[in-house]
Formats: sequence, C-alpha cells, structure tokens
Amino acid sequence: MPDTDPSTAARARLPLREDLRGLEPYGAPQLVVPVVLNVNENPYPPSEAVVADVAAAAAEAARGLNRYPDREFRDLRADLAAYLRRESGVALEVEQVWAANGSNEVMLHLFQAFGGPGRTALSFAPTYSMYPEYARDTATAWVVGRREEDFSVDPEAAAAAIAEHAPSLVVLASPNNPTGTALPLDTVRAVLAAADAVPGGCVVVVDEAYGEFRREGTPSALELLAAHPNLAVTRTMSKAFGLAGARVGYLAAAPELVDALRIVRLPYHLSAVTQAVARAALRHTDELMAQVAGLRAERDATVAWLREQGWAAADSDANFVLFGVLEDRHAVWQALLDRGVLIREVGPEGWLRVSIGTPAEMARFRETLLDVTKGRPA
Ligand code: PMP
Repeated sequence: MPDTDPSTAARARLPLREDLRGLEPYGAPQLVVPVVLNVNENPYPPSEAVVADVAAAAAEAARGLNRYPDREFRDLRADLAAYLRRESGVALEVEQVWAANGSNEVMLHLFQAFGGPGRTALSFAPTYSMYPEYARDTATAWVVGRREEDFSVDPEAAAAAIAEHAPSLVVLASPNNPTGTALPLDTVRAVLAAADAVPGGCVVVVDEAYGEFRREGTPSALELLAAHPNLAVTRTMSKAFGLAGARVGYLAAAPELVDALRIVRLPYHLSAVTQAVARAALRHTDELMAQVAGLRAERDATVAWLREQGWAAADSDANFVLFGVLEDRHAVWQALLDRGVLIREVGPEGWLRVSIGTPAEMARFRETLLDVTKGRPA
C-alpha cells in the first residue's frame, strides 16, 4: 500500500519540463470494433507461411538472447538495401541504410542529431502530427509552412520558407499523411536547392512511410540520394509489409549522415528478435508486394466511389483517403463508430480520413457512410 494517494499537488511537484506540463500522450483511440480503419495499418495479418518463418527466426534468435544483439545490425541493413534496390531500382550500400523501432524512432534519431536547442525544423501542413512532437522532445523550434488547396507543396513558397527560417531540418512526407499527396521530384529538388543555401547546412527528410502504395509513374526520392548527401529517405515495415506490431522503420542516406545517427542511438536499440523478425518478413517480399497491389486497387476504387457520390476525395498515393467536405465531421465520425466503423478525425476542418481495409471492410464502410449521411454529401 502506498503511504498516501498521490494527490494532484504531489504530482505537480515532479520537475516535469514546463513545455510538457498538461500535455496528453499522442495516439489515436485503440477501440475494439468490427471495422478498424483509423491508423493506416495493413488489414491483412501475416500469412501462415510468414508466421512460420517469423516464429522460426524468433526461436533461433531466442537461443542467443543471453547476449546483446548486433548493434550495427549489418545483416538487416543489407537485406533492407537489397529490398530498396528491388522496389525502386536504386542501389545502396549497407552503410547507407539505418533502422530503428519504427520510422518514428528513425525520425527521432534525425531530430536528435540535426535538431536541438537553438535550431529549427520546418514542414508543410497539414501533415503528420508526430513531427511537432519530435521537435518538442528534442527542444527544436518547429515552424510550418502551408500546403496549397490541393495539398501540394509550392516549390517557390517552400524555398522562400527555407530561406526565411534557415532550418537545420526540413521534413516532407511523401505520400503525405493525412492527405495522401506525393510530391513530384522537382519539388523535392527545389527544397534541396534551398536547403543547400542554408548557411549552417540543412538535412532534408522525405518520409516515405507509404512509399510502396504510390501510383504507377510516381517516383521515389531514393532516386535523388546519389546527388544529395543531405537527403534522408525514411521508410517503414509497418504499412506495406503489414508489420506494424514488430516496430521496424528504416532510412536511406549518405554514409556520413547514417554515421551521425549512430552517435545518438541508444546502444543495442534494435533487439535481436526485431532484427530476426524483420529479416524473415523480408524473405516474403513477393507475397507482400502482391498484397500491396490489391490495396492500391482498393484505394483507387474508394477514391472513385467517393467522388461518384459527390464527395471531394484527395488524390492518394497512400493506403488511405482523405475525403470531405462535411459540415459536422465529428458527428459523421461518431455515427460511423456507433455502427462499428472506426475511421480518423484528422486533417483540415470538414475532412475525414479512411484507411484502406479488405474489400469486405470497405464495402461496410461505404454502406455505413451512405447510411449515416443519408447518401448526401456534406
Ligand atoms: N510517417 C508517417 C507519415 C506516418 O503516417 C507514420 C505512422 N502513422 C509513421 C511515419 C510512423 O510509422 P512507424 O513508426 O510505424 O514506422
């Protein structure tokens, strides 16, 4: 039994940083409902073949758990490099690849190494709502420029914002969350040119967490790596690989940039089990990529259907669709939830985001949306 219940007053005596007081932890609701389409997960659990391979790899790793894991995880980095080469045609050395517990942690490493007190990070909103949290947690000043009406980034406005704020980090999500918008490489090139002119130097991060879902003909910023030592392209196994529960994110960049991240990472940050599980899943790339093709088709069909019904739906290169414009988006979100369909209330006022699920889940979403809006957009 504790001596006394910890009162609010007693808790207030904790020397919590001023800027963290009263804040809530980040996270969407984790509710148990029949149709979960709110955090852009892959709706398909790993196949039995993947489960068997992952289980065998975890068992093998377990035999060595008395030892710390390989803290340079070179085997996993080599497998990730081979995968990226296959996925985007870009050849990478092991020294150009980095990994951590989700791309969230990869991004934190970037902020720890290149942000910090007295420095600024810049992005373009609406975008992924964790970015300001990495900035806050590393005491990096956070500045946002605006995206255009169609959620694209205007290259000239972006260059002007970089010249004005002289950030040490620029973060561009492409495809962007929550809008689904991918950036043309010319926009990324314009940002890189502006970053090169920042007196203290500037790292440009292109967050391609949803990269595998990009439409035919949409390039990856990986293609720009060879010419830009200050570019980092982040990816994750959470989405296309359906491995969100394993927590594996990674990045490709110049070896010097990767070396900087090795300074700030905790020793042995990637467990032996995580490394083994990721490598086992990567052996099933063919199967998982076939599934991604199915999700892309379902995404395109969802965009088309929403537009046929009279809603606005943002072009999407991701596994989710932002749609609107609803007079009372909270009421629609709640009515969907009341009928067992959980989507996300995020993005500009009046818009909602739905992740792409299985065909059966999407049918349920369509029926329920028609039901709660009486078939009328807005
Ligand atoms: N970047 C973007 C744009 C995301 O939407 C997410 C997850 N929602 C992440 C990064 C982080 O994913 P993870 O840590 O699972 O790799």
